[in-house]
Amino acid sequence: MQHRPGAGGPHPRRQPPAVRRTDDVAQASLDAWHVLARTWDIWWTRRGGFDTVAARAAERTAALVAHARRHSPFYRDAWRSLASPTPALTSLPPVTKRELMGRFDDWVTDRRLHRRGVEAFLTDRSHIGERYLDRYVIWKSSGSTGEPGIFVQDAEALAVYDALIGVQLQTPALAGRYALGFVTHGGRAALVAATGDHFASIASWQRMCRGSPWPTARAFSVMDPLPALVDALNDYQPAFLASYPTTLAMLANEQRAGRLRIAPACIWSGGECLAPSAASTIEQAFASVLINEYGASECMSLAYSCPAGWLHVNADWVVLEPVDRHYQATPAGESSHSVLVTNLANRVQPIIRYDLGDSILVQPDPCGCGSPLPALRAEGRRDDVLMLRAHDGAIVPLSPLALTTVIEDAIAGQRFQLVQTAPDRIAVRLGNVDPDERVAEFGATKRALDAYLSHQALDNVQLALDAGPPVPDPRSGKLREVIASVHA
Ligand SMILES: [Zn+2]
Repeated sequence: MQHRPGAGGPHPRRQPPAVRRTDDVAQASLDAWHVLARTWDIWWTRRGGFDTVAARAAERTAALVAHARRHSPFYRDAWRSLASPTPALTSLPPVTKRELMGRFDDWVTDRRLHRRGVEAFLTDRSHIGERYLDRYVIWKSSGSTGEPGIFVQDAEALAVYDALIGVQLQTPALAGRYALGFVTHGGRAALVAATGDHFASIASWQRMCRGSPWPTARAFSVMDPLPALVDALNDYQPAFLASYPTTLAMLANEQRAGRLRIAPACIWSGGECLAPSAASTIEQAFASVLINEYGASECMSLAYSCPAGWLHVNADWVVLEPVDRHYQATPAGESSHSVLVTNLANRVQPIIRYDLGDSILVQPDPCGCGSPLPALRAEGRRDDVLMLRAHDGAIVPLSPLALTTVIEDAIAGQRFQLVQTAPDRIAVRLGNVDPDERVAEFGATKRALDAYLSHQALDNVQLALDAGPPVPDPRSGKLREVIASVHA
Protein backbone atom coordinates (compact mmCIF):
# COMPACT_ATOMS: atom_id res chain seq x y z
CA MET A 1 0.00 0.00 0.00
CA GLN A 2 0.98 3.44 0.45
CA HIS A 3 2.06 6.87 -0.21
CA ARG A 4 4.43 6.21 2.60
CA PRO A 5 7.77 7.93 2.41
CA GLY A 6 10.70 6.15 0.85
CA ALA A 7 13.45 8.45 2.02
CA GLY A 8 13.74 11.87 3.49
CA GLY A 9 14.25 13.46 6.82
CA PRO A 10 13.52 16.14 9.30
CA HIS A 11 13.74 19.24 7.17
CA PRO A 12 12.15 22.62 7.70
CA ARG A 13 8.51 22.82 6.64
CA ARG A 14 7.84 24.65 3.46
CA GLN A 15 4.55 26.30 2.80
CA PRO A 16 3.32 26.96 -0.73
CA PRO A 17 4.13 30.45 -1.96
CA ALA A 18 1.60 33.05 -0.76
CA VAL A 19 1.59 34.81 -4.13
CA ARG A 20 0.91 32.69 -7.18
CA ARG A 21 2.47 33.51 -10.49
CA THR A 22 0.21 34.11 -13.50
CA ASP A 23 1.14 30.79 -15.11
CA ASP A 24 0.31 29.00 -11.83
CA VAL A 25 -3.16 30.55 -11.91
CA ALA A 26 -3.64 29.60 -15.57
CA GLN A 27 -2.45 26.07 -14.78
CA ALA A 28 -4.80 25.89 -11.77
CA SER A 29 -7.79 26.91 -13.95
CA LEU A 30 -6.90 24.32 -16.55
CA ASP A 31 -6.46 21.70 -13.82
CA ALA A 32 -9.81 22.65 -12.26
CA TRP A 33 -11.51 22.20 -15.64
CA HIS A 34 -9.90 18.78 -16.06
CA VAL A 35 -11.00 17.71 -12.58
CA LEU A 36 -14.58 18.88 -13.17
CA ALA A 37 -14.79 16.93 -16.43
CA ARG A 38 -13.45 13.81 -14.72
CA THR A 39 -15.83 14.23 -11.77
CA TRP A 40 -18.85 14.24 -14.10
CA ASP A 41 -17.49 11.22 -15.91
CA ILE A 42 -17.12 9.29 -12.62
CA TRP A 43 -20.64 10.20 -11.49
CA TRP A 44 -22.29 9.21 -14.73
CA THR A 45 -20.33 5.99 -15.08
CA ARG A 46 -21.15 4.86 -11.53
CA ARG A 47 -24.82 5.78 -11.83
CA GLY A 48 -24.97 3.16 -14.59
CA GLY A 49 -24.09 0.41 -12.09
CA PHE A 50 -21.39 -2.26 -12.10
CA ASP A 51 -21.75 -3.24 -15.78
CA THR A 52 -21.19 0.33 -16.96
CA VAL A 53 -18.18 0.66 -14.67
CA ALA A 54 -16.74 -2.62 -15.98
CA ALA A 55 -17.30 -1.55 -19.60
CA ARG A 56 -15.48 1.79 -19.04
CA ALA A 57 -12.60 -0.05 -17.35
CA ALA A 58 -12.36 -2.48 -20.29
CA GLU A 59 -12.20 0.39 -22.83
CA ARG A 60 -9.56 2.19 -20.79
CA THR A 61 -7.54 -0.98 -20.32
CA ALA A 62 -7.44 -1.64 -24.07
CA ALA A 63 -6.39 1.97 -24.76
CA LEU A 64 -3.67 1.86 -22.08
CA VAL A 65 -2.25 -1.44 -23.35
CA ALA A 66 -2.17 -0.11 -26.93
CA HIS A 67 -0.46 3.09 -25.75
CA ALA A 68 2.15 1.19 -23.72
CA ARG A 69 2.88 -1.14 -26.63
CA ARG A 70 3.41 1.82 -28.96
CA HIS A 71 5.37 4.14 -26.67
CA SER A 72 7.09 2.09 -23.92
CA PRO A 73 10.09 0.04 -25.12
CA PHE A 74 9.96 -1.90 -21.84
CA TYR A 75 6.43 -3.19 -22.42
CA ARG A 76 7.06 -3.70 -26.13
CA ASP A 77 9.92 -6.08 -25.20
CA ALA A 78 7.95 -7.77 -22.42
CA TRP A 79 4.99 -8.48 -24.73
CA ARG A 80 7.00 -9.35 -27.85
CA SER A 81 5.87 -12.98 -27.86
CA LEU A 82 2.15 -12.15 -27.59
CA ALA A 83 0.45 -12.88 -30.90
CA SER A 84 -2.74 -10.87 -30.38
CA PRO A 85 -2.62 -7.14 -31.19
CA THR A 86 -5.27 -6.66 -28.47
CA PRO A 87 -4.26 -9.09 -25.71
CA ALA A 88 -6.50 -9.68 -22.68
CA LEU A 89 -5.15 -7.99 -19.55
CA THR A 90 -4.85 -11.34 -17.75
CA SER A 91 -2.60 -12.69 -20.53
CA LEU A 92 0.05 -10.01 -19.88
CA PRO A 93 3.03 -10.93 -17.68
CA PRO A 94 3.01 -9.33 -14.18
CA VAL A 95 5.76 -6.77 -13.51
CA THR A 96 7.68 -5.80 -10.38
CA LYS A 97 9.05 -2.48 -9.19
CA ARG A 98 12.62 -3.81 -9.43
CA GLU A 99 12.20 -4.73 -13.12
CA LEU A 100 10.56 -1.42 -14.00
CA MET A 101 13.03 0.74 -12.07
CA GLY A 102 15.88 -1.21 -13.67
CA ARG A 103 14.66 0.02 -17.06
CA PHE A 104 13.17 3.35 -16.03
CA ASP A 105 14.10 5.19 -19.27
CA ASP A 106 12.42 2.47 -21.38
CA TRP A 107 9.42 2.15 -19.06
CA VAL A 108 8.25 5.78 -19.44
CA THR A 109 6.45 6.80 -22.65
CA ASP A 110 7.88 10.34 -22.95
CA ARG A 111 11.40 10.05 -24.38
CA ARG A 112 12.39 13.33 -22.70
CA LEU A 113 12.18 11.62 -19.29
CA HIS A 114 15.40 10.07 -18.03
CA ARG A 115 16.06 8.58 -14.63
CA ARG A 116 19.17 10.72 -14.17
CA GLY A 117 17.29 13.98 -14.78
CA VAL A 118 14.36 12.92 -12.60
CA GLU A 119 16.69 11.94 -9.76
CA ALA A 120 18.45 15.31 -9.98
CA PHE A 121 15.05 17.02 -9.70
CA LEU A 122 14.16 14.86 -6.68
CA THR A 123 17.45 15.70 -4.97
CA ASP A 124 16.42 19.35 -4.77
CA ARG A 125 13.81 19.53 -2.03
CA SER A 126 12.81 23.09 -2.90
CA HIS A 127 10.78 21.66 -5.82
CA ILE A 128 8.34 19.51 -3.78
CA GLY A 129 4.98 19.44 -5.58
CA GLU A 130 6.31 21.48 -8.54
CA ARG A 131 6.04 20.22 -12.10
CA TYR A 132 8.91 18.55 -13.90
CA LEU A 133 9.32 19.56 -17.57
CA ASP A 134 6.40 21.91 -16.78
CA ARG A 135 3.93 19.03 -16.92
CA TYR A 136 4.70 16.08 -14.65
CA VAL A 137 4.38 15.65 -10.89
CA ILE A 138 6.95 13.25 -9.48
CA TRP A 139 7.19 11.44 -6.18
CA LYS A 140 9.20 8.63 -4.69
CA SER A 141 8.43 5.80 -2.33
CA SER A 142 9.80 2.58 -0.94
CA GLY A 143 6.34 1.03 -0.51
CA SER A 144 5.74 -2.25 1.26
CA THR A 145 8.68 -4.03 -0.39
CA GLY A 146 11.32 -1.55 0.77
CA GLU A 147 12.49 -1.16 -2.85
CA PRO A 148 12.91 2.49 -3.91
CA GLY A 149 10.56 3.67 -6.67
CA ILE A 150 10.09 6.89 -8.64
CA PHE A 151 6.60 7.65 -9.96
CA VAL A 152 5.78 10.18 -12.68
CA GLN A 153 2.19 11.42 -13.01
CA ASP A 154 0.75 13.18 -16.04
CA ALA A 155 -2.01 15.83 -16.03
CA GLU A 156 -4.77 13.31 -16.77
CA ALA A 157 -3.74 11.08 -13.85
CA LEU A 158 -3.62 14.05 -11.46
CA ALA A 159 -7.08 15.21 -12.59
CA VAL A 160 -8.45 11.70 -12.07
CA TYR A 161 -6.93 11.40 -8.56
CA ASP A 162 -8.39 14.78 -7.57
CA ALA A 163 -11.80 13.88 -9.04
CA LEU A 164 -11.80 10.51 -7.22
CA ILE A 165 -11.11 12.25 -3.91
CA GLY A 166 -13.79 14.85 -4.72
CA VAL A 167 -16.39 12.19 -5.47
CA GLN A 168 -15.61 10.41 -2.19
CA LEU A 169 -16.18 13.63 -0.27
CA GLN A 170 -19.39 14.62 -2.00
CA THR A 171 -21.76 12.28 -0.21
CA PRO A 172 -24.73 13.97 1.54
CA ALA A 173 -23.40 13.01 5.00
CA LEU A 174 -19.99 14.49 4.30
CA ALA A 175 -21.35 17.62 2.64
CA GLY A 176 -22.99 18.42 5.99
CA ARG A 177 -19.69 17.78 7.75
CA TYR A 178 -17.93 20.15 5.36
CA ALA A 179 -20.45 22.89 5.98
CA LEU A 180 -19.89 22.35 9.70
CA GLY A 181 -16.12 22.53 9.20
CA PHE A 182 -16.35 25.81 7.37
CA VAL A 183 -18.66 27.29 9.98
CA THR A 184 -16.70 26.13 13.02
CA HIS A 185 -13.09 26.46 11.90
CA GLY A 186 -13.09 28.48 8.70
CA GLY A 187 -12.45 25.31 6.70
CA ARG A 188 -8.84 25.05 7.93
CA ALA A 189 -7.22 21.84 6.71
CA ALA A 190 -4.19 20.18 8.32
CA LEU A 191 -1.94 17.48 6.91
CA VAL A 192 0.41 15.72 9.34
CA ALA A 193 2.97 13.87 7.23
CA ALA A 194 6.62 13.47 6.32
CA THR A 195 6.87 16.89 4.76
CA GLY A 196 10.54 17.21 3.96
CA ASP A 197 10.88 15.30 0.70
CA HIS A 198 9.19 14.35 -2.56
CA PHE A 199 6.55 11.92 -1.24
CA ALA A 200 3.14 11.39 -2.78
CA SER A 201 1.22 12.77 0.19
CA ILE A 202 3.11 16.05 0.56
CA ALA A 203 3.65 16.52 -3.19
CA SER A 204 -0.11 16.18 -3.76
CA TRP A 205 -0.87 18.43 -0.82
CA GLN A 206 1.44 21.21 -2.05
CA ARG A 207 -0.07 20.88 -5.52
CA MET A 208 -3.60 21.13 -4.14
CA CYS A 209 -2.62 24.11 -1.98
CA ARG A 210 -1.51 25.88 -5.16
CA GLY A 211 -5.00 25.24 -6.60
CA SER A 212 -6.51 26.42 -3.27
CA PRO A 213 -9.41 24.03 -2.67
CA TRP A 214 -9.49 25.19 0.96
CA PRO A 215 -9.33 28.71 2.31
CA THR A 216 -6.44 27.71 4.57
CA ALA A 217 -4.31 24.61 4.48
CA ARG A 218 -1.17 23.83 6.42
CA ALA A 219 1.23 20.88 6.55
CA PHE A 220 2.70 19.74 9.88
CA SER A 221 5.75 17.53 10.15
CA VAL A 222 5.36 14.03 11.56
CA MET A 223 9.03 14.34 12.62
CA ASP A 224 8.22 16.97 15.26
CA PRO A 225 8.05 15.82 18.90
CA LEU A 226 4.46 14.88 19.79
CA PRO A 227 3.99 17.66 22.41
CA ALA A 228 5.07 20.29 19.83
CA LEU A 229 2.71 18.80 17.22
CA VAL A 230 -0.14 18.80 19.75
CA ASP A 231 0.51 22.47 20.62
CA ALA A 232 0.61 23.45 16.94
CA LEU A 233 -2.66 21.65 16.21
CA ASN A 234 -4.31 23.19 19.30
CA ASP A 235 -3.34 26.63 17.97
CA TYR A 236 -4.44 25.87 14.43
CA GLN A 237 -7.80 24.16 15.24
CA PRO A 238 -8.24 22.33 11.91
CA ALA A 239 -11.69 21.54 10.52
CA PHE A 240 -10.15 18.75 8.42
CA LEU A 241 -7.29 16.56 9.55
CA ALA A 242 -5.36 14.20 7.24
CA SER A 243 -2.58 11.82 8.29
CA TYR A 244 -1.34 8.23 8.51
CA PRO A 245 -3.38 5.80 10.67
CA THR A 246 -0.52 5.31 13.18
CA THR A 247 -0.14 9.08 13.62
CA LEU A 248 -3.92 9.54 13.91
CA ALA A 249 -3.97 6.82 16.58
CA MET A 250 -1.25 8.66 18.52
CA LEU A 251 -3.19 11.93 18.19
CA ALA A 252 -6.39 10.15 19.31
CA ASN A 253 -4.56 9.12 22.52
CA GLU A 254 -3.54 12.74 23.07
CA GLN A 255 -7.12 13.90 22.50
CA ARG A 256 -8.47 11.34 24.98
CA ALA A 257 -5.87 12.43 27.55
CA GLY A 258 -7.07 16.03 27.14
CA ARG A 259 -3.75 17.39 25.89
CA LEU A 260 -4.99 17.68 22.31
CA ARG A 261 -8.19 19.70 22.06
CA ILE A 262 -9.37 19.88 18.46
CA ALA A 263 -12.76 19.20 16.86
CA PRO A 264 -12.21 18.26 13.21
CA ALA A 265 -15.46 17.76 11.31
CA CYS A 266 -13.78 15.17 9.13
CA ILE A 267 -10.59 13.06 9.34
CA TRP A 268 -8.78 11.53 6.38
CA SER A 269 -6.46 8.57 6.78
CA GLY A 270 -4.18 7.15 4.14
CA GLY A 271 -0.65 5.97 3.43
CA GLU A 272 -0.77 2.88 5.64
CA CYS A 273 -3.32 0.14 6.23
CA LEU A 274 -5.86 1.07 8.86
CA ALA A 275 -6.95 -1.61 11.33
CA PRO A 276 -10.75 -1.57 11.89
CA SER A 277 -10.22 -1.22 15.66
CA ALA A 278 -7.98 1.83 15.08
CA ALA A 279 -10.66 3.41 12.89
CA SER A 280 -13.30 3.33 15.62
CA THR A 281 -10.79 4.50 18.27
CA ILE A 282 -9.95 7.54 16.13
CA GLU A 283 -13.58 8.34 15.31
CA GLN A 284 -14.63 8.09 18.95
CA ALA A 285 -11.75 10.18 20.30
CA PHE A 286 -12.53 13.06 17.95
CA ALA A 287 -16.31 12.47 17.65
CA SER A 288 -15.68 12.83 13.93
CA VAL A 289 -16.14 10.96 10.68
CA LEU A 290 -13.10 9.09 9.38
CA ILE A 291 -12.56 8.45 5.67
CA ASN A 292 -9.94 5.84 4.93
CA GLU A 293 -8.28 5.82 1.56
CA TYR A 294 -6.41 2.80 0.26
CA GLY A 295 -3.82 4.24 -2.05
CA ALA A 296 -0.32 3.68 -3.30
CA SER A 297 2.41 5.75 -4.88
CA GLU A 298 1.74 3.70 -8.02
CA CYS A 299 -1.92 4.79 -8.09
CA MET A 300 -2.99 7.44 -5.62
CA SER A 301 -6.54 6.28 -5.00
CA LEU A 302 -7.18 2.54 -5.28
CA ALA A 303 -10.22 2.32 -3.02
CA TYR A 304 -11.96 4.18 -0.19
CA SER A 305 -13.94 3.22 2.87
CA CYS A 306 -17.72 2.87 3.11
CA PRO A 307 -19.96 3.03 6.20
CA ALA A 308 -20.15 -0.79 6.20
CA GLY A 309 -16.39 -0.96 6.88
CA TRP A 310 -15.24 -2.14 3.43
CA LEU A 311 -13.01 -0.46 0.86
CA HIS A 312 -14.64 0.14 -2.52
CA VAL A 313 -12.35 -0.14 -5.54
CA ASN A 314 -12.35 2.82 -7.94
CA ALA A 315 -13.01 0.17 -10.57
CA ASP A 316 -13.59 2.63 -13.41
CA TRP A 317 -9.98 3.85 -13.06
CA VAL A 318 -8.03 0.95 -11.58
CA VAL A 319 -7.97 -2.83 -12.00
CA LEU A 320 -7.03 -4.85 -8.91
CA GLU A 321 -6.38 -8.59 -9.32
CA PRO A 322 -5.86 -10.59 -6.10
CA VAL A 323 -3.30 -13.35 -6.81
CA ASP A 324 -1.46 -16.21 -5.10
CA ARG A 325 2.35 -16.47 -5.02
CA HIS A 326 2.32 -17.95 -8.56
CA TYR A 327 0.24 -15.02 -9.89
CA GLN A 328 -2.86 -17.21 -10.21
CA ALA A 329 -6.20 -15.52 -9.36
CA THR A 330 -7.32 -15.80 -5.72
CA PRO A 331 -11.09 -16.39 -5.37
CA ALA A 332 -13.32 -13.81 -3.66
CA GLY A 333 -13.60 -14.39 0.07
CA GLU A 334 -9.97 -15.59 0.41
CA SER A 335 -6.91 -13.56 1.38
CA SER A 336 -4.53 -13.12 -1.54
CA HIS A 337 -0.74 -13.35 -1.42
CA SER A 338 -0.41 -10.14 -3.43
CA VAL A 339 -2.42 -7.89 -5.71
CA LEU A 340 -1.72 -6.82 -9.30
CA VAL A 341 -2.53 -3.17 -10.01
CA THR A 342 -3.32 -1.63 -13.38
CA ASN A 343 -3.63 2.17 -13.22
CA LEU A 344 -5.94 3.27 -16.05
CA ALA A 345 -5.35 7.00 -15.52
CA ASN A 346 -1.62 7.46 -16.08
CA ARG A 347 -0.13 7.10 -19.56
CA VAL A 348 3.37 8.51 -19.03
CA GLN A 349 4.57 5.64 -16.84
CA PRO A 350 2.20 2.73 -17.44
CA ILE A 351 1.46 0.56 -14.38
CA ILE A 352 0.09 -2.66 -15.89
CA ARG A 353 -0.30 -5.83 -13.75
CA TYR A 354 2.14 -4.42 -11.25
CA ASP A 355 2.85 -6.57 -8.18
CA LEU A 356 1.94 -4.27 -5.28
CA GLY A 357 2.72 -6.79 -2.51
CA ASP A 358 -0.41 -6.17 -0.40
CA SER A 359 -2.75 -8.95 0.63
CA ILE A 360 -6.41 -8.22 -0.14
CA LEU A 361 -9.68 -10.05 0.42
CA VAL A 362 -12.50 -9.33 -2.03
CA GLN A 363 -16.03 -9.38 -0.61
CA PRO A 364 -17.91 -12.21 -2.35
CA ASP A 365 -21.38 -10.64 -1.91
CA PRO A 366 -22.77 -7.19 -2.73
CA CYS A 367 -21.85 -4.67 -0.02
CA GLY A 368 -24.53 -3.65 2.46
CA CYS A 369 -23.88 0.03 1.70
CA GLY A 370 -25.35 -0.36 -1.80
CA SER A 371 -22.23 0.75 -3.74
CA PRO A 372 -21.92 -0.83 -7.20
CA LEU A 373 -18.13 -0.91 -6.83
CA PRO A 374 -16.35 -4.12 -5.75
CA ALA A 375 -15.47 -4.17 -2.04
CA LEU A 376 -12.33 -5.46 -0.36
CA ARG A 377 -10.25 -5.44 2.79
CA ALA A 378 -6.54 -4.69 2.45
CA GLU A 379 -3.63 -5.75 4.58
CA GLY A 380 -0.34 -4.10 3.75
CA ARG A 381 2.67 -4.02 5.99
CA ARG A 382 1.67 -2.90 9.46
CA ASP A 383 4.38 -1.22 11.48
CA ASP A 384 4.04 -0.58 15.21
CA VAL A 385 4.03 2.67 17.14
CA LEU A 386 6.95 2.42 19.60
CA MET A 387 6.25 3.48 23.20
CA LEU A 388 9.61 4.42 24.72
CA ARG A 389 10.42 5.43 28.30
CA ALA A 390 12.27 8.73 28.75
CA HIS A 391 14.78 9.26 31.59
CA ASP A 392 12.07 11.01 33.69
CA GLY A 393 9.76 7.99 33.31
CA ALA A 394 7.46 9.65 30.76
CA ILE A 395 6.25 7.38 27.95
CA VAL A 396 6.89 8.86 24.50
CA PRO A 397 5.12 7.35 21.45
CA LEU A 398 7.06 7.41 18.18
CA SER A 399 5.49 7.17 14.75
CA PRO A 400 6.88 4.29 12.63
CA LEU A 401 6.68 6.59 9.59
CA ALA A 402 8.96 9.11 11.29
CA LEU A 403 11.46 6.41 12.34
CA THR A 404 11.67 4.81 8.89
CA THR A 405 11.99 8.23 7.25
CA VAL A 406 14.99 9.04 9.48
CA ILE A 407 16.72 5.76 8.65
CA GLU A 408 15.96 5.79 4.94
CA ASP A 409 17.51 9.24 4.78
CA ALA A 410 20.66 7.88 6.48
CA ILE A 411 21.07 4.61 4.53
CA ALA A 412 18.96 5.04 1.40
CA GLY A 413 17.84 1.83 -0.28
CA GLN A 414 19.22 -0.56 2.39
CA ARG A 415 17.06 -3.11 4.19
CA PHE A 416 16.63 -2.59 7.91
CA GLN A 417 14.36 -3.41 10.81
CA LEU A 418 13.93 -1.80 14.23
CA VAL A 419 12.82 -3.93 17.17
CA GLN A 420 12.05 -2.40 20.54
CA THR A 421 13.54 -4.93 22.98
CA ALA A 422 13.14 -3.01 26.26
CA PRO A 423 11.36 0.17 27.42
CA ASP A 424 14.46 2.19 26.53
CA ARG A 425 16.25 -0.02 24.02
CA ILE A 426 15.98 -0.57 20.27
CA ALA A 427 17.79 -3.29 18.28
CA VAL A 428 18.73 -2.38 14.72
CA ARG A 429 18.82 -5.22 12.16
CA LEU A 430 20.57 -4.55 8.86
CA GLY A 431 20.25 -6.52 5.63
CA ASN A 432 23.80 -5.84 4.45
CA VAL A 433 26.08 -8.86 5.09
CA ASP A 434 29.44 -7.18 4.38
CA PRO A 435 31.06 -6.68 7.85
CA ASP A 436 32.68 -3.29 7.08
CA GLU A 437 29.59 -1.93 5.35
CA ARG A 438 27.42 -3.10 8.27
CA VAL A 439 29.57 -1.11 10.70
CA ALA A 440 29.41 1.99 8.48
CA GLU A 441 25.64 1.65 7.98
CA PHE A 442 25.03 1.16 11.69
CA GLY A 443 27.16 4.25 12.38
CA ALA A 444 25.07 6.34 9.98
CA THR A 445 21.80 4.90 11.33
CA LYS A 446 22.84 5.51 14.93
CA ARG A 447 23.86 9.12 14.27
CA ALA A 448 20.55 9.88 12.54
CA LEU A 449 18.41 8.06 15.12
CA ASP A 450 20.30 9.53 18.11
CA ALA A 451 19.64 13.03 16.74
CA TYR A 452 15.96 12.25 16.19
CA LEU A 453 15.55 10.58 19.62
CA SER A 454 17.26 13.46 21.37
CA HIS A 455 14.81 15.85 19.65
CA GLN A 456 12.02 13.76 21.21
CA ALA A 457 13.60 13.99 24.73
CA LEU A 458 14.64 10.34 24.44
CA ASP A 459 18.44 10.66 24.57
CA ASN A 460 18.50 7.88 27.19
CA VAL A 461 17.35 5.30 24.62
CA GLN A 462 20.07 2.80 23.71
CA LEU A 463 20.59 1.53 20.15
CA ALA A 464 22.29 -1.80 19.49
CA LEU A 465 23.27 -3.53 16.28
CA ASP A 466 21.57 -6.92 16.14
CA ALA A 467 23.71 -9.79 14.87
CA GLY A 468 20.95 -11.06 12.57
CA PRO A 469 19.36 -9.70 9.41
CA PRO A 470 15.80 -8.25 9.20
CA VAL A 471 13.19 -11.01 9.66
CA PRO A 472 10.08 -10.93 7.45
CA ASP A 473 6.69 -11.50 9.07
CA PRO A 474 6.28 -15.32 9.19
CA ARG A 475 2.61 -15.12 8.18
CA SER A 476 2.62 -12.57 5.35
CA GLY A 477 6.26 -12.81 4.25
CA LYS A 478 6.39 -8.99 4.24
CA LEU A 479 9.09 -7.04 5.99
CA ARG A 480 7.79 -5.00 8.91
CA GLU A 481 10.38 -2.32 9.55
CA VAL A 482 9.28 -1.19 13.02
CA ILE A 483 8.27 -3.80 15.59
CA ALA A 484 7.40 -3.31 19.27
CA SER A 485 8.21 -6.67 20.86
CA VAL A 486 7.88 -5.02 24.29
CA HIS A 487 6.25 -1.80 25.39
CA ALA A 488 7.35 0.63 28.06
ZN1 LIG B 1 -19.79 -0.71 1.11
